[in-house]
Amino acid sequence: MTTTRQAQNARFQAGSGCYVCRVCGHNTRSTGGDGASVKLCDNCFELAGEDNHISDNGTIYGSKAGVTQMLATLDKRSGVGTAQRCFPQVCKAAEYGLSTPRLVIDYLKCREEGFGVTESIRTAVSLNPEVTKVQAMAELAAAGCNPATVRIQYANSRRIDAEMAAELAA
Ligand SMILES: [Zn+2]
Repeated sequence: MTTTRQAQNARFQAGSGCYVCRVCGHNTRSTGGDGASVKLCDNCFELAGEDNHISDNGTIYGSKAGVTQMLATLDKRSGVGTAQRCFPQVCKAAEYGLSTPRLVIDYLKCREEGFGVTESIRTAVSLNPEVTKVQAMAELAAAGCNPATVRIQYANSRRIDAEMAAELAA
């Protein structure tokens, strides 16, 4: 896999053509590699490779965390459920998205509506009072968020909710 990437980089040419990935719709600059010939972005090309590897060997090629990150990137780009729809075998092998956490769905909805990252995290956390900080950090990290940002915004969200509850009770 690394060898393929290195070969792609070696063949990279500035000003080469762009194309739209036929899986995720990501606008991609051609590196002259194998991804371009099948009109896939690097992320989807790697996932297609994992799909082949699972078909041949029954297991994923990369790390589970790495594959989870790629699947999360796909969902982030093209909407929750895309990974499950396009790469069901990879999702199953990486145990990804069999049921997308409510927190992540709420977060992505906020982002789609144009809210910033921190505000989206605070809103999603507020909408899911049962989710713990550790859980929120893990689930949102899988959706591409910085865990440190999640930790801070989780605390902010819970504090704001507590303050509002206190005000209402007063
Ligand atoms: Zn793609």
